[in-house]
Amino acid sequence: MVKKVLKFGGTSVGSIERIQHVAKIIKKEHDAGNQIIVVVSAMAGKTNELIDLSKNISKNFSKREYDVLISSGEQVSCALLAGALINLNLKAKSWMNWQIPILTEGEHSNARIINVNVEKINKFLQEGIAIIPGFQGITKNCDITTIGRGGSDATAVAFAKLFDAEKCEIYTDVDGVFSSDPKKIPVAKKIEKISYEEMLELSSVGAKVMQPSAVQTAMMYDIPLEVKSTFTDRKGTKIFDQENIDYSKSVTGVAYSKDDAKITLTQVEDKPGVAANIFAPLNDAQINVDMVIQNISSDQKTTDITFTIKREDLSKTKEILRKNRSINYKEITHNAKVSKVSIVGAGMVSTPGVTYKMFKALADEKINILAISTSEIKISVIIDEENTLNAVRKLHTIFDLD
Ligand code: ASP
Ligand code: MG
Repeated sequence: MVKKVLKFGGTSVGSIERIQHVAKIIKKEHDAGNQIIVVVSAMAGKTNELIDLSKNISKNFSKREYDVLISSGEQVSCALLAGALINLNLKAKSWMNWQIPILTEGEHSNARIINVNVEKINKFLQEGIAIIPGFQGITKNCDITTIGRGGSDATAVAFAKLFDAEKCEIYTDVDGVFSSDPKKIPVAKKIEKISYEEMLELSSVGAKVMQPSAVQTAMMYDIPLEVKSTFTDRKGTKIFDQENIDYSKSVTGVAYSKDDAKITLTQVEDKPGVAANIFAPLNDAQINVDMVIQNISSDQKTTDITFTIKREDLSKTKEILRKNRSINYKEITHNAKVSKVSIVGAGMVSTPGVTYKMFKALADEKINILAISTSEIKISVIIDEENTLNAVRKLHTIFDLD
């Protein structure tokens, strides 16, 4: 008997027909003799709808009540799915976060699961299927908290760990993780196996199949994951430890994000502490700075500092920089229409020349690189947004991914 956690995302439970279809998948797994814990998201669009309702009351809606509100979508999908399973003559039961309880810590809308009472559910699993709401828990003071958008993935991984499950399967509306965005790059292929590290890098740069923090937790505790489609029988993508993977290719995937912006401060004084003075107030305002480059200014005495941020933070960032009296510079310039294109692959560690090959390919396409950053298994470049798909297509081809 194998214990499994199956997680179904919002689109998988997005309608009554879909919930009935999901019930059949679960029945099959159960009939095969497995013990099943199911984690569900709210029906597609529901959480956004609830958020909009809160905005209609107030832009400053109470943080506590916000979590009470937006966690409620999962209660609906849990009950409907449990009901559908009962209708198939199975023993199934939904459990709300406080009934288990799922204990969380940290601020509202951004809490973490720190423990789950496993006893009652483990006992129930011997006879039936447990249906759990993703994305939420309660604090030790019994306040309901949510754990960040897309948090049902994290719930699934936490349950897999705390219940010692052999498998954690993430059911979604795509066939798995692809070598690039299959909607924009039709030649992209499904990846059969990928390491946690690569998956993390890919999801941090735009491949939105799974919540990155859930992948991180799975990596930390070595919980094998499989991402697969609710709507086809095709094999999904297995995500696990690096050792299990064959690295015949240097690059596993090409991802991009189109919502970046670039800011440059020109002629900044070149002395210790300047960078810290620039970035401290941005940090206080929780603005996420991505790439940073420093080069000598045209006057040869000062320095130009360029960095990238999310586009939505652009005006706030400029305002903070303008108000910052602790720095001297000539001017602030920005480019709001840039994107980040990244190649990711654990195989690049052992393959020389990957960086050159990438830059050469972009040069051949006459695409100008505005900033570069690298990690052991990722190379990212910032380019003008209009060149994004052209760059992704070219890189996908030259690294043999088509
Ligand atoms: N329903 C929540 C959201 O939309 C959690 C999830 O889907 O994972 O963010
Ligand atoms: Mg989701």
